[in-house]
Amino acid sequence: MIKYLDLQKINASFEPELSDALLRVCHSGWYLYGEATARFEQEFAAYCDTVHCVSTGNGLDALTLIFLAYRELGVMDAGDEIIVPANTYIATVLSILRAGLKPVLCEPAFETCNMDITYAESLITPRTRAILPVHLYGRLADMQGIYDLATRYGLKIIEDAAQAHGAIWNKGLPGKGSPALRAGSLSDAAAFSFYPAKNLGALGDGGAITTHDAELATTARSIANYGSTEKYVHLYQGINSRLDELQATVLSIKLSRLDKDNARRREIAQSYKENIDWQRLGLQSTVHTDHINEANVFHIFPVFSPRRNELQRYLTQCGISTQIHYPIPPHRQEALKKEYGMQQLPITERIHNEELSLPISPLLTNEETEHIINRINAFI
Ligand SMILES: *Cc1c(COP(=O)(O)O)cnc(C)c1O
Repeated sequence: MIKYLDLQKINASFEPELSDALLRVCHSGWYLYGEATARFEQEFAAYCDTVHCVSTGNGLDALTLIFLAYRELGVMDAGDEIIVPANTYIATVLSILRAGLKPVLCEPAFETCNMDITYAESLITPRTRAILPVHLYGRLADMQGIYDLATRYGLKIIEDAAQAHGAIWNKGLPGKGSPALRAGSLSDAAAFSFYPAKNLGALGDGGAITTHDAELATTARSIANYGSTEKYVHLYQGINSRLDELQATVLSIKLSRLDKDNARRREIAQSYKENIDWQRLGLQSTVHTDHINEANVFHIFPVFSPRRNELQRYLTQCGISTQIHYPIPPHRQEALKKEYGMQQLPITERIHNEELSLPISPLLTNEETEHIINRINAFI
């Protein structure tokens, strides 16, 4: 059986360094707000090339804290609108709601699965405060288009970079320094998740905000710590959201191999792209129309087919496990149906009906990749 993602194998490949470091934390007697967390924040800010990194308990909190901080700073008010892709993991939408703001769902372009800029523009109202692109599947959104739109309408940009650790935008953006920019530095503030299965994954939950904005970073950090900047003094009605020393230690070790792992993901994607018989199978992929470059870190390798369920069953029989990202779009979920169920979002629905994620892991071997390709090409 080829697993969709073999986390046990991935984490074992960091041994014995990982166990040694975890034991050191265990014996240190210091588990929160310590050296390991501070070090990881510095390393991750340096990696993303942002001035600040604020670690959090998970990715949902990282997104939510950005919005809560903007509310405390008076940039956003209750009920203000945030434009967000309709085809995303529900966390993106929930973060907006949790901060008392209003998600406005935007259709993607089918070819990229990222936000359709023209559609986004049609959603802008006097209450719109921000655009929240998601670099879905590890492929960067059209940041130039989003940047132009945000500039024209005076909107904030917040990246959901939970699937795009390390992806590089090498076309530059006005006022952002060097032309090669990483996910996390392409906006006013970005949120990352270190959920175990992400390209940079902890051994549990974790998340981070990256930003150049000192005021936003300080405010978010304080809200994440019960609204406090000084022990037992509370400035805001905060929450509790922390990355602990154990997870920070794991992440520092794994960060050092992230670029290499992402390069291997691209190699596997290249092999899929070149060797799958796309035409005969009537399959499509978001990478099929795009070059495989550093703007894509292939958190997920998606293929699209009207016969998705059949293909998945067939691959399971062949001993190849796949996943679907995601079977039900947010607006069709029971949790959001009341507000969003009536919205017509045909491209979003097509993506959710046709998407199948092939195994992609930095430790997938060439033989396994070839086997997967051969089995797919034998699908009738
Ligand atoms: C994983 C993910 C999140 C949420 O991260 P958690 O750490 O699970 O809270 C948010 N947005 C996207 C696009 C994700 O893939």
